[in-house]
Amino acid sequence: MSYYKMSARDRIIVIGAGSTGSSVAYNLKRATHSEVVLIDKGGVASGMTSFSTAIVRTHYSNEVVAKMAFESRKFFEANRETLRFYKTGMVTVVPSALRKRMEDNVDMLRRLGIREEILEVKEASKMFPWLNFDADEGVSYEPDSGYADPVSTANFFARKAMDLGVKFLREEVHRIENTQGQAKIVLRNGKEISGASVILCTNIWTNKLLSQSGFAKGDLLPLKVSPHPVVIYKRPNGITGLRPVVNDLANRDYYKPEGESLLLGGNLRSELDEADVDPDKPPPQVPFNYIADYSQRISNRIPAMGNAGFHSAYYGMYDNTPDLHPIIDSLASLGLPNFYCCVGLSGHGFKLAPSLGEIVSHLVTGEEDPALEYFRLSRFKEGKSIFKGYEGIGTVG
Ligand SMILES: Cc1cc2nc3c(=O)[nH]c(=O)nc-3n(C[C@H](O)[C@H](O)[C@H](O)COP(=O)(O)OP(=O)(O)OC[C@H]3O[C@@H](n4cnc5c(N)ncnc54)[C@H](O)[C@@H]3O)c2cc1C
Repeated sequence: MSYYKMSARDRIIVIGAGSTGSSVAYNLKRATHSEVVLIDKGGVASGMTSFSTAIVRTHYSNEVVAKMAFESRKFFEANRETLRFYKTGMVTVVPSALRKRMEDNVDMLRRLGIREEILEVKEASKMFPWLNFDADEGVSYEPDSGYADPVSTANFFARKAMDLGVKFLREEVHRIENTQGQAKIVLRNGKEISGASVILCTNIWTNKLLSQSGFAKGDLLPLKVSPHPVVIYKRPNGITGLRPVVNDLANRDYYKPEGESLLLGGNLRSELDEADVDPDKPPPQVPFNYIADYSQRISNRIPAMGNAGFHSAYYGMYDNTPDLHPIIDSLASLGLPNFYCCVGLSGHGFKLAPSLGEIVSHLVTGEEDPALEYFRLSRFKEGKSIFKGYEGIGTVG
């Protein structure tokens, strides 16, 4: 019998095989006896996952996401070789106005069992002599954070899922619809597959798929596709080797020393989160002015970077929600009762992938999970955005 004609009763279809969808497929296969099909138009990790700077940190300003990051980090740690997790530590710097906020935040994180401490500027300068701090800035340090390899991580989940029997299809889903109590997807090649449930892990392409499926602009999900530049430098002698990530909330930038000699520089600029572009038409190249300004800012924080070599720059795109936190919910309110989504990860979803997979499996199987109330779609219409401790600073959460 053709695969496309097989019974749909127990089939779960996951669209998107980035870090999210691969983890979702793996967790669903573990949690159910269903046939699970993972579909991606470009292959595993062919979307934004491969553009990720892949920082794995726990410094979040609300408990629910901090717990998810904490649990996920344990997963990275337990599989550190395969996921290429480097525990470099992370330094967070805030302007004086946010010092109290940071102290309260670190108290909350410590209550959860996360190792993080506030450092006096003098102490921080001693520990990290390559960093420059203003006397009135706030500094914290989390020793267990670092970064992993995003492509290896998505492939790890996809491989584990396939080992358990998940089927992978490299196809583009052109349309989704709900017919006769079942979820149906129509592929670009015209073939149809039905299932009991379909989960959209389609990141920046989610609204495009909904539009193609006949949804009007006003009925789409509250997601913006926002390009964010990353500048890559060759570090000069003296600051090579493994070093902590710097989460520079004072400059609204972050710096990730990668491997022996590179440094990836990203930003936390909330004004960039307002842009909304066609996901298949990112801006062509990072403007020279942006790179020049960025190079100035980074050398204020890391003076030796004044002698760094420029390597390259690229744009990645975030799927931003209005409160920069995910939507993990059923799409019944859109008239798609057998459809679910885990989207809107707003530029910080890589590190959360292990937890996201578990939460989505609870959503689909009906298991109770307090996170589901938190990430519900209706919160935006209810005016109940998720709390953000560092308002105006993007993606920190
Ligand atoms: C520049 C940048 C830096 C980042 N840095 C960090 C960081 O340091 N730490 C962190 O935690 N997070 C970070 N993030 C965010 C994180 O990388 C993403 O949230 C996460 O990787 C998204 O994974 P995903 O699986 O949801 O999306 P994607 O990896 O984009 O996967 C979605 C998949 O869906 C497929 N797809 C879409 N539509 C269809 C369709 N119609 N049919 C078939 N397939 C389809 C696509 O091909 C794609 O492979 C960063 C993101 C960017 C862009």
